[in-house]
Amino acid sequence: MTERHTAHTQAQSTPPSDLSQAPIVVFWELTRACALACKHCRAQAQPLRHPLELSAKEAYSAVEEIARFQPKPILVLTGGDPLMRRDLFEIASQGVASGLRVSLSPSVTALCNPKNLRRAYESGIRHISISLDGASAQVHDEFRGVHGSHGQTLQAVADAHEAGLSVQINTTVCRSNVTELDTLATLVANLKVVMWDLFFLVPTGRAHRQDMLSPEEHEAVFHWLYDLQKSAPYRVKTTLGQPFRRVAFQRSQQEGASFAPPPATNDGKGICFISHVGQICPSGFLPIVCGNIRATSLVETYQTHPVFQALRDSQQLQGKCGVCPFNRLCGGCRARAYACSGDFLAEEPACPYLADPLSHEVGLAVTPV
Ligand code: SF4
Ligand code: SF4
Repeated sequence: MTERHTAHTQAQSTPPSDLSQAPIVVFWELTRACALACKHCRAQAQPLRHPLELSAKEAYSAVEEIARFQPKPILVLTGGDPLMRRDLFEIASQGVASGLRVSLSPSVTALCNPKNLRRAYESGIRHISISLDGASAQVHDEFRGVHGSHGQTLQAVADAHEAGLSVQINTTVCRSNVTELDTLATLVANLKVVMWDLFFLVPTGRAHRQDMLSPEEHEAVFHWLYDLQKSAPYRVKTTLGQPFRRVAFQRSQQEGASFAPPPATNDGKGICFISHVGQICPSGFLPIVCGNIRATSLVETYQTHPVFQALRDSQQLQGKCGVCPFNRLCGGCRARAYACSGDFLAEEPACPYLADPLSHEVGLAVTPV
Protein backbone atom coordinates (compact mmCIF):
# COMPACT_ATOMS: atom_id res chain seq x y z
CA MET A 1 0.00 0.00 0.00
CA THR A 2 1.01 3.58 -0.33
CA GLU A 3 3.04 5.17 2.38
CA ARG A 4 -0.26 6.17 3.80
CA HIS A 5 0.01 2.65 5.22
CA THR A 6 3.11 3.51 7.11
CA ALA A 7 4.86 2.36 10.20
CA HIS A 8 5.78 5.31 12.32
CA THR A 9 5.72 3.63 15.68
CA GLN A 10 9.46 3.33 15.88
CA ALA A 11 9.91 6.97 14.90
CA GLN A 12 8.59 7.89 18.30
CA SER A 13 11.58 6.27 19.95
CA THR A 14 14.15 7.65 17.54
CA PRO A 15 16.55 9.93 19.37
CA PRO A 16 16.50 13.61 18.42
CA SER A 17 18.43 14.12 15.23
CA ASP A 18 19.36 16.84 12.80
CA LEU A 19 16.61 16.60 10.22
CA SER A 20 18.75 18.50 7.71
CA GLN A 21 21.22 15.60 7.64
CA ALA A 22 19.10 12.49 7.82
CA PRO A 23 15.43 11.61 7.60
CA ILE A 24 13.75 9.69 10.38
CA VAL A 25 11.80 7.62 7.87
CA VAL A 26 12.50 6.64 4.27
CA PHE A 27 9.42 5.40 2.43
CA TRP A 28 10.26 3.14 -0.45
CA GLU A 29 7.52 2.35 -2.93
CA LEU A 30 8.93 -1.01 -4.01
CA THR A 31 6.31 -1.43 -6.69
CA ARG A 32 3.23 0.33 -7.93
CA ALA A 33 1.50 -2.99 -8.53
CA CYS A 34 -1.47 -3.80 -6.33
CA ALA A 35 -4.44 -6.13 -6.68
CA LEU A 36 -6.71 -3.42 -5.30
CA ALA A 37 -7.75 -0.18 -6.96
CA CYS A 38 -8.79 2.12 -4.12
CA LYS A 39 -10.49 5.32 -5.17
CA HIS A 40 -8.17 7.51 -3.11
CA CYS A 41 -4.89 5.73 -3.96
CA ARG A 42 -1.94 8.09 -3.80
CA ALA A 43 0.20 5.76 -5.90
CA GLN A 44 -2.45 5.31 -8.57
CA ALA A 45 -1.64 1.64 -8.20
CA GLN A 46 -1.89 -0.62 -11.23
CA PRO A 47 -2.49 -4.38 -11.51
CA LEU A 48 0.93 -5.10 -13.06
CA ARG A 49 4.48 -4.24 -12.07
CA HIS A 50 6.10 -1.46 -14.06
CA PRO A 51 8.76 -2.76 -16.48
CA LEU A 52 11.20 -0.07 -15.32
CA GLU A 53 10.90 -0.87 -11.61
CA LEU A 54 14.24 -1.02 -9.81
CA SER A 55 15.82 -4.42 -10.44
CA ALA A 56 16.88 -6.66 -7.57
CA LYS A 57 20.49 -5.49 -8.01
CA GLU A 58 19.43 -1.85 -8.04
CA ALA A 59 17.28 -2.48 -4.99
CA TYR A 60 20.25 -3.86 -3.06
CA SER A 61 22.30 -0.77 -4.01
CA ALA A 62 19.42 1.39 -2.82
CA VAL A 63 19.43 -0.34 0.56
CA GLU A 64 23.16 0.36 0.92
CA GLU A 65 22.57 4.00 0.05
CA ILE A 66 19.73 4.36 2.56
CA ALA A 67 21.95 2.83 5.25
CA ARG A 68 24.56 5.59 4.66
CA PHE A 69 22.38 8.10 6.53
CA GLN A 70 23.54 8.79 10.06
CA PRO A 71 21.62 8.12 12.17
CA LYS A 72 20.09 5.34 10.14
CA PRO A 73 16.44 5.94 9.32
CA ILE A 74 13.52 3.60 9.58
CA LEU A 75 12.85 2.02 6.22
CA VAL A 76 9.19 1.54 5.34
CA LEU A 77 8.64 -0.88 2.47
CA THR A 78 5.47 0.26 0.81
CA GLY A 79 3.79 0.40 -2.58
CA GLY A 80 1.49 -0.34 -4.36
CA ASP A 81 1.62 -3.63 -2.55
CA PRO A 82 5.19 -4.56 -1.58
CA LEU A 83 4.08 -8.19 -1.39
CA MET A 84 3.81 -8.07 -5.19
CA ARG A 85 7.63 -8.11 -5.35
CA ARG A 86 9.02 -11.60 -5.06
CA ASP A 87 12.31 -10.32 -3.67
CA LEU A 88 10.57 -8.34 -0.89
CA PHE A 89 11.89 -10.49 1.94
CA GLU A 90 15.46 -10.51 0.58
CA ILE A 91 15.36 -6.71 0.40
CA ALA A 92 14.00 -6.57 3.95
CA SER A 93 16.70 -8.96 5.22
CA GLN A 94 19.39 -6.89 3.59
CA GLY A 95 17.97 -3.75 5.15
CA VAL A 96 17.98 -5.33 8.60
CA ALA A 97 21.54 -6.61 8.04
CA SER A 98 22.55 -3.05 7.14
CA GLY A 99 21.32 -1.81 10.49
CA LEU A 100 17.99 -0.40 9.35
CA ARG A 101 14.73 -0.94 11.16
CA VAL A 102 12.43 -2.19 8.45
CA SER A 103 8.65 -1.91 8.50
CA LEU A 104 6.12 -3.25 6.05
CA SER A 105 2.97 -1.63 4.65
CA PRO A 106 1.17 -4.33 2.69
CA SER A 107 -2.19 -4.19 0.99
CA VAL A 108 -4.79 -6.52 2.44
CA THR A 109 -5.17 -9.02 -0.37
CA ALA A 110 -4.73 -12.79 -0.58
CA LEU A 111 -0.97 -12.19 -0.38
CA CYS A 112 -1.30 -10.78 3.12
CA ASN A 113 -1.64 -14.26 4.56
CA PRO A 114 -0.19 -16.03 7.62
CA LYS A 115 2.65 -17.57 5.59
CA ASN A 116 3.86 -14.25 4.17
CA LEU A 117 3.44 -12.51 7.53
CA ARG A 118 5.64 -15.20 9.10
CA ARG A 119 8.18 -14.69 6.32
CA ALA A 120 8.10 -10.99 7.06
CA TYR A 121 8.95 -11.71 10.69
CA GLU A 122 11.69 -14.16 9.71
CA SER A 123 13.24 -11.53 7.43
CA GLY A 124 13.66 -9.22 10.44
CA ILE A 125 10.59 -7.05 10.03
CA ARG A 126 8.99 -6.37 13.39
CA HIS A 127 6.33 -3.80 12.59
CA ILE A 128 3.52 -3.68 10.09
CA SER A 129 0.88 -1.10 9.25
CA ILE A 130 -2.54 -2.10 8.06
CA SER A 131 -5.21 0.24 6.72
CA LEU A 132 -8.66 0.42 8.18
CA ASP A 133 -10.73 3.21 6.71
CA GLY A 134 -14.11 2.71 8.30
CA ALA A 135 -15.65 1.32 11.46
CA SER A 136 -18.35 -0.33 9.40
CA ALA A 137 -17.82 -2.79 6.60
CA GLN A 138 -19.92 -0.57 4.39
CA VAL A 139 -17.68 2.48 4.70
CA HIS A 140 -14.39 0.58 4.59
CA ASP A 141 -15.38 -1.65 1.66
CA GLU A 142 -16.71 1.30 -0.29
CA PHE A 143 -13.39 3.05 0.32
CA ARG A 144 -11.39 0.03 -0.90
CA GLY A 145 -13.81 -0.89 -3.64
CA VAL A 146 -13.80 -4.54 -2.52
CA HIS A 147 -16.67 -6.27 -0.80
CA GLY A 148 -15.39 -8.20 2.22
CA SER A 149 -12.22 -6.11 2.62
CA HIS A 150 -13.23 -4.98 6.14
CA GLY A 151 -13.39 -8.54 7.45
CA GLN A 152 -10.13 -9.45 5.68
CA THR A 153 -8.45 -6.47 7.28
CA LEU A 154 -9.49 -7.48 10.80
CA GLN A 155 -8.22 -11.00 10.04
CA ALA A 156 -4.92 -9.61 8.74
CA VAL A 157 -4.42 -7.77 12.04
CA ALA A 158 -4.96 -11.01 13.95
CA ASP A 159 -2.62 -12.92 11.60
CA ALA A 160 0.08 -10.29 11.95
CA HIS A 161 -0.11 -10.51 15.74
CA GLU A 162 0.06 -14.30 15.47
CA ALA A 163 3.23 -13.93 13.38
CA GLY A 164 4.82 -11.86 16.16
CA LEU A 165 4.57 -8.47 14.46
CA SER A 166 3.55 -5.28 16.20
CA VAL A 167 0.67 -3.68 14.34
CA GLN A 168 -0.28 -0.13 13.56
CA ILE A 169 -3.61 0.86 12.07
CA ASN A 170 -3.66 3.60 9.47
CA THR A 171 -6.80 5.49 8.58
CA THR A 172 -7.28 8.12 5.92
CA VAL A 173 -9.58 10.69 7.47
CA CYS A 174 -11.89 12.13 4.84
CA ARG A 175 -15.46 13.01 4.06
CA SER A 176 -16.72 9.42 3.93
CA ASN A 177 -15.52 8.30 7.37
CA VAL A 178 -15.34 11.43 9.53
CA THR A 179 -18.65 10.63 11.20
CA GLU A 180 -17.38 7.14 12.12
CA LEU A 181 -14.23 8.19 13.95
CA ASP A 182 -15.65 7.63 17.45
CA THR A 183 -16.70 4.08 16.62
CA LEU A 184 -13.46 3.47 14.80
CA ALA A 185 -11.46 4.55 17.86
CA THR A 186 -13.22 1.85 19.87
CA LEU A 187 -12.67 -0.78 17.18
CA VAL A 188 -8.96 0.09 17.02
CA ALA A 189 -8.77 -0.35 20.80
CA ASN A 190 -10.33 -3.79 20.49
CA LEU A 191 -7.70 -4.77 17.94
CA LYS A 192 -4.94 -4.36 20.56
CA VAL A 193 -2.61 -2.51 18.22
CA VAL A 194 0.27 -0.31 19.30
CA MET A 195 -0.63 2.76 17.28
CA TRP A 196 -3.36 4.48 15.36
CA ASP A 197 -2.02 6.78 12.67
CA LEU A 198 -4.59 9.15 11.21
CA PHE A 199 -3.74 10.36 7.72
CA PHE A 200 -5.52 13.50 6.64
CA LEU A 201 -6.42 13.21 2.99
CA VAL A 202 -4.30 15.09 0.49
CA PRO A 203 -5.87 15.40 -2.95
CA THR A 204 -3.11 13.73 -4.90
CA GLY A 205 -3.06 10.54 -6.96
CA ARG A 206 -6.64 9.31 -7.23
CA ALA A 207 -7.90 11.34 -4.24
CA HIS A 208 -10.04 14.38 -4.95
CA ARG A 209 -10.34 17.72 -3.25
CA GLN A 210 -14.01 17.19 -2.46
CA ASP A 211 -12.97 14.16 -0.33
CA MET A 212 -10.96 16.46 1.95
CA LEU A 213 -12.39 17.90 5.17
CA SER A 214 -12.89 21.64 5.54
CA PRO A 215 -10.46 23.60 7.76
CA GLU A 216 -13.09 23.73 10.53
CA GLU A 217 -13.65 19.98 10.32
CA HIS A 218 -9.90 19.37 10.50
CA GLU A 219 -9.76 21.55 13.59
CA ALA A 220 -12.63 19.67 15.24
CA VAL A 221 -10.96 16.31 14.54
CA PHE A 222 -7.66 17.57 15.96
CA HIS A 223 -9.39 18.62 19.20
CA TRP A 224 -11.20 15.28 19.37
CA LEU A 225 -7.87 13.51 18.83
CA TYR A 226 -6.18 15.52 21.56
CA ASP A 227 -8.84 14.31 23.99
CA LEU A 228 -8.70 10.75 22.68
CA GLN A 229 -4.95 10.38 23.10
CA LYS A 230 -5.26 11.03 26.84
CA SER A 231 -7.07 7.76 27.38
CA ALA A 232 -6.49 5.60 24.30
CA PRO A 233 -4.77 2.25 24.93
CA TYR A 234 -2.63 2.85 21.84
CA ARG A 235 -0.45 5.69 20.71
CA VAL A 236 -2.07 8.20 18.43
CA LYS A 237 -0.32 10.15 15.73
CA THR A 238 -1.17 12.16 12.66
CA THR A 239 0.31 12.11 9.19
CA LEU A 240 -0.32 14.99 6.81
CA GLY A 241 -2.00 16.65 9.79
CA GLN A 242 0.72 19.02 11.02
CA PRO A 243 -1.71 21.57 12.57
CA PHE A 244 -2.53 18.94 15.19
CA ARG A 245 0.78 19.93 16.81
CA ARG A 246 -0.43 23.51 17.16
CA VAL A 247 -3.77 22.34 18.59
CA ALA A 248 -2.03 19.99 21.02
CA PHE A 249 0.28 22.78 22.13
CA GLN A 250 -2.57 25.27 22.60
CA ARG A 251 -4.72 22.77 24.48
CA SER A 252 -1.90 21.71 26.77
CA GLN A 253 -1.17 25.38 27.52
CA GLN A 254 -4.84 25.98 28.38
CA GLU A 255 -4.84 22.94 30.64
CA GLY A 256 -1.50 23.72 32.27
CA ALA A 257 -0.29 20.36 31.06
CA SER A 258 3.23 19.61 29.92
CA PHE A 259 3.77 19.40 26.18
CA ALA A 260 6.40 17.19 24.63
CA PRO A 261 6.53 18.19 20.97
CA PRO A 262 6.87 15.28 18.59
CA PRO A 263 9.53 15.47 15.89
CA ALA A 264 8.36 18.30 13.60
CA THR A 265 8.54 16.14 10.51
CA ASN A 266 7.09 17.20 7.21
CA ASP A 267 7.62 16.36 3.57
CA GLY A 268 11.36 16.54 2.94
CA LYS A 269 12.00 17.25 6.62
CA GLY A 270 12.61 13.99 8.41
CA ILE A 271 10.88 12.16 5.57
CA CYS A 272 11.86 11.21 2.07
CA PHE A 273 10.48 8.91 -0.58
CA ILE A 274 11.80 6.65 -3.32
CA SER A 275 9.37 5.70 -6.07
CA HIS A 276 9.13 2.32 -7.78
CA VAL A 277 11.33 3.60 -10.61
CA GLY A 278 13.86 5.19 -8.26
CA GLN A 279 12.68 8.82 -8.21
CA ILE A 280 13.62 10.71 -5.07
CA CYS A 281 10.85 12.97 -3.74
CA PRO A 282 10.23 14.81 -0.44
CA SER A 283 7.33 12.40 0.18
CA GLY A 284 4.95 10.22 -1.75
CA PHE A 285 2.31 12.88 -1.34
CA LEU A 286 4.62 15.62 -2.61
CA PRO A 287 5.70 14.22 -5.96
CA ILE A 288 8.39 16.72 -6.89
CA VAL A 289 11.19 14.64 -8.39
CA CYS A 290 14.55 15.80 -7.06
CA GLY A 291 16.72 13.00 -8.41
CA ASN A 292 16.79 9.31 -9.20
CA ILE A 293 18.53 6.76 -7.04
CA ARG A 294 19.83 5.10 -10.21
CA ALA A 295 22.01 8.14 -10.88
CA THR A 296 21.90 10.41 -7.83
CA SER A 297 23.02 10.03 -4.24
CA LEU A 298 19.97 9.82 -1.98
CA VAL A 299 21.97 11.22 0.93
CA GLU A 300 23.19 14.25 -1.02
CA THR A 301 19.78 14.86 -2.56
CA TYR A 302 18.14 14.85 0.86
CA GLN A 303 20.79 17.11 2.38
CA THR A 304 21.43 19.59 -0.44
CA HIS A 305 18.67 19.68 -3.06
CA PRO A 306 17.10 23.17 -3.08
CA VAL A 307 13.56 21.79 -2.78
CA PHE A 308 14.47 19.72 0.29
CA GLN A 309 16.33 22.68 1.80
CA ALA A 310 13.41 25.04 1.19
CA LEU A 311 11.00 22.56 2.77
CA ARG A 312 13.08 22.63 5.96
CA ASP A 313 13.24 26.41 6.14
CA SER A 314 10.19 27.79 7.95
CA GLN A 315 11.23 31.33 6.96
CA GLN A 316 10.30 30.55 3.37
CA LEU A 317 6.71 29.66 4.18
CA GLN A 318 4.10 31.85 2.55
CA GLY A 319 0.73 33.29 3.50
CA LYS A 320 -0.52 32.81 7.01
CA CYS A 321 1.94 29.96 7.64
CA GLY A 322 4.74 32.46 6.96
CA VAL A 323 3.66 34.73 9.82
CA CYS A 324 2.35 32.03 12.15
CA PRO A 325 4.09 31.79 15.55
CA PHE A 326 3.71 28.01 15.32
CA ASN A 327 5.39 27.52 11.99
CA ARG A 328 8.47 25.80 13.37
CA LEU A 329 6.35 23.42 15.37
CA CYS A 330 3.77 22.89 12.63
CA GLY A 331 4.62 24.39 9.25
CA GLY A 332 1.41 23.12 7.67
CA CYS A 333 1.24 20.12 5.39
CA ARG A 334 3.51 20.93 2.47
CA ALA A 335 2.01 18.17 0.33
CA ARG A 336 -1.52 19.56 0.77
CA ALA A 337 -0.32 23.10 0.01
CA TYR A 338 1.25 21.81 -3.20
CA ALA A 339 -1.75 19.70 -4.19
CA CYS A 340 -4.15 22.60 -3.70
CA SER A 341 -2.07 25.51 -5.03
CA GLY A 342 0.90 24.16 -6.98
CA ASP A 343 3.26 25.89 -4.52
CA PHE A 344 4.83 23.69 -1.87
CA LEU A 345 5.59 26.73 0.29
CA ALA A 346 2.03 28.12 0.17
CA GLU A 347 -0.13 28.29 3.28
CA GLU A 348 -1.78 25.12 4.53
CA PRO A 349 -5.32 25.09 3.14
CA ALA A 350 -6.70 22.85 5.89
CA CYS A 351 -5.90 25.09 8.86
CA PRO A 352 -8.33 27.76 10.08
CA TYR A 353 -5.82 29.34 12.45
CA LEU A 354 -4.95 32.95 11.80
CA ALA A 355 -2.22 34.45 13.91
CA ASP A 356 -3.23 37.65 15.69
CA PRO A 357 -0.35 40.10 15.19
CA LEU A 358 -1.20 41.80 18.50
CA SER A 359 -1.20 38.63 20.55
CA HIS A 360 1.90 37.10 22.04
CA GLU A 361 1.48 33.46 21.18
CA VAL A 362 4.42 31.53 22.50
CA GLY A 363 4.64 29.03 19.68
CA LEU A 364 8.05 30.32 18.61
CA ALA A 365 9.42 29.34 21.98
CA VAL A 366 8.74 25.71 21.17
CA THR A 367 11.76 24.11 19.63
CA PRO A 368 10.72 20.75 18.29
CA VAL A 369 13.36 18.12 17.75
S1 SF4 B 1 -4.30 -0.95 -1.29
FE1 SF4 B 1 -5.38 0.72 -2.30
S2 SF4 B 1 -4.32 2.59 -1.60
FE2 SF4 B 1 -2.95 0.85 -1.19
S3 SF4 B 1 -1.67 0.70 -3.03
FE3 SF4 B 1 -3.39 -0.71 -3.34
S4 SF4 B 1 -4.86 0.53 -4.48
FE4 SF4 B 1 -3.40 1.96 -3.59
S1 SF4 C 1 -1.16 28.75 10.01
FE1 SF4 C 1 0.21 27.25 9.09
S2 SF4 C 1 1.93 27.06 10.53
FE2 SF4 C 1 0.23 28.08 11.63
S3 SF4 C 1 -0.85 26.44 12.67
FE3 SF4 C 1 -1.88 26.75 10.69
S4 SF4 C 1 -0.88 25.31 9.30
FE4 SF4 C 1 0.43 25.52 11.09
